[in-house]
Amino acid sequence: MTGTVNRVWHLAARPTGFPSESDFELRPEPVPSPGPGQVLVRNEVMSVDPAMRGRMNDVKSYVEPFQLGAPLDGGAVGTVVASRSGDVEAGQSVLHGLGWREYALLDAARVRVVDTTAAPASAFLGVLGMPGLTAYAGLLDVARMRPEETVFVSGAAGAVGTLVGQIARLRGARLVIGSAGTPEKVRYLTEELGFDGAFNYRDGDIRGQLKRLAPDGIDVFFDNVGGEQLEAALFRMNLHGRIAVCGAISQYNTPDATGIRNLSLLISKRLTMQGFLVLDHWSRREAFMEEMTAWLREDRIKVAETFVDGIDHAVEAFLGMLKGANLGKMIVRLTA
Ligand code: NAP
Repeated sequence: MTGTVNRVWHLAARPTGFPSESDFELRPEPVPSPGPGQVLVRNEVMSVDPAMRGRMNDVKSYVEPFQLGAPLDGGAVGTVVASRSGDVEAGQSVLHGLGWREYALLDAARVRVVDTTAAPASAFLGVLGMPGLTAYAGLLDVARMRPEETVFVSGAAGAVGTLVGQIARLRGARLVIGSAGTPEKVRYLTEELGFDGAFNYRDGDIRGQLKRLAPDGIDVFFDNVGGEQLEAALFRMNLHGRIAVCGAISQYNTPDATGIRNLSLLISKRLTMQGFLVLDHWSRREAFMEEMTAWLREDRIKVAETFVDGIDHAVEAFLGMLKGANLGKMIVRLTA
């Protein structure tokens, strides 16, 4: 049944440094009604992503910043509860971009119908969604990983990282190693996900840890973290190695970014270092979905997800994700 109140998270203040709960406000609004061509969706799960932190700054980027005092948005999956479109029916599950609220009103063209009998709704925000395609396209197209290569992924226990390591293994990497921020995550990577080695970056001597785990050097570095892990990896890259720069989460909440002091190694080692955005790789979605769906069906990929329950805990989930409270994809469940 459709309720009468729609709770919606707004950006109350632009964070400086690490965000705090007071930068956000949960406001009650009336549940809207669809106009012609529109659908009303009751959100069931929503995503919290590192990129949302960037959108809280008032800077020009590849996506518009969140507006002060306005609702936040982001990936969500829910059920259509009212439709005035011939293309989408009430009762269908849809993926769309208006999370951070209980009910979303959208033009039908802005939702994608998903089959939640084939995979749970949360999968379309993780393994079968944006983070999955990021891992797939970043590793195979940007870093051009080939069989028998050694792959290092930073942020390996997160949504993207857990998939990068597993895809590397399935595509024939010789050695897969990863970094994460707790001993439990490190254990999970090697014992559950089949990484050959993993280390806790908080233990220090990252360069030494990389040397210990990949004594013959690194061919492909999938970087989610930046900063000192990038600098350490540059020292350990092999000739003609490739670095896919996916993210730099160690730098998102600090006004003083860490400078990389050894970029001249790009020259002597003939390295390729390429930043990328998943939105430039949608053309690979079909190939990705086909291969990932088969791996899931054959039980060859493990899905890691961390759930936080309730719209009122969405900010807690977001801040938790930025601090590493998640194993795999951080998801907020809005309905029991
Ligand atoms: P995630 O890894 O699931 O969650 C973020 C993780 O970052 C946390 O769990 C935490 O794990 C780690 N972290 C936080 N602060 C850190 C620090 N100072 N040093 C090292 N690790 C830190 O997030 P995700 O959605 O998979 O995203 C991973 C990265 O990919 C992010 O940088 C994101 O911006 C980027 N990304 C890029 C694209 C693209 O199109 N280029 C698309 C999606 C995501 P620990 O416990 O291990 O610290």
